[in-house]
Amino acid sequence: MDEGLSKTDIMFTEHLYAPIEQVHFDLFKEKQIEVYIKREDLIHPFIAGNKWRKLKYILQDARYKNKNHLVTFGGAYSNHLLAVACAGAKYNYKTTGLVRGEEVNNHMLGLCKWFGMKLIFVDRESYRNKTKLFDEYFSENNEAYYINEGGAGELGAKGCGEILNGIENDYSHVFCSVGTGCTIEGLINYANENKLHSSIEGVVVLKGGDFLQKQIEEKNFNEANWRLHQNFHEGGYAKTTPELLAFIQNFAAQTGILIDQVYEGKMMKAIFTLAEENYFKKGSKILAIHCGGTLGMLSIVN
Ligand SMILES: *Cc1c(COP(=O)(O)O)cnc(C)c1O
Repeated sequence: MDEGLSKTDIMFTEHLYAPIEQVHFDLFKEKQIEVYIKREDLIHPFIAGNKWRKLKYILQDARYKNKNHLVTFGGAYSNHLLAVACAGAKYNYKTTGLVRGEEVNNHMLGLCKWFGMKLIFVDRESYRNKTKLFDEYFSENNEAYYINEGGAGELGAKGCGEILNGIENDYSHVFCSVGTGCTIEGLINYANENKLHSSIEGVVVLKGGDFLQKQIEEKNFNEANWRLHQNFHEGGYAKTTPELLAFIQNFAAQTGILIDQVYEGKMMKAIFTLAEENYFKKGSKILAIHCGGTLGMLSIVN
């Protein structure tokens, strides 16, 4: 075993700190429900939450294929780009990020560069065809390894399923936010295979998410209960409303937990709205997965 291989395998033995905490609000008391948060955001400051979970099997696959240059894709505030940049530095891979849109600078891309990632900005039109982009830049490069935007794919989903490893089987609902759908697919698959009683529910953070419903239906997770909520996107991907920002700020002030405006803020706000609408039966026990993204919100904090 070379040193590089053993370094990646550390991802398999590392003890992950992602505790479950209850959050207390009058609304929950009034509706007689309990809400818990799984702090996947605490796994790593830069390889946070579901991004760590996804990269675990992806990086192992790259290593087995003898590829030591990770190439991936993201927007200018991508948590995934930052996770790949940091993981590359930590586990010994070169990294290149293809970034959607005109050249910009912000704290997220700045951190990517500090971790040694090479950034290539590509116009929105070319960005649509990622395999073509990859071939354009890397077809001659035997060391380059293609990672989907957001780390989506089967290996990513497999890692995400492990978020539920070892939890008590007494949650009525497990909630997560949904971008590409990779995380929730992993959770549903895990619930399916392990006969969890929980209903796995996703809050879709983008507008026009019907394709996600189809994408998951096609996987035929027959045993598991799951559901997508399409009405909590607050105007679309990365769009915010004053109500959302006020909610996030109040949540931080009440709990000491930061949630971002792109993903986890929308998920938590949805849980509050659903509770107000008596969606949850009395006695429900809800587990919300906090998948990280906290650094992305630094651009809105002032
Ligand atoms: C990437 C990300 C998501 C979206 O996960 P998908 O697997 O793409 O659905 C949710 N929350 C946070 C914080 C993320 O960084």
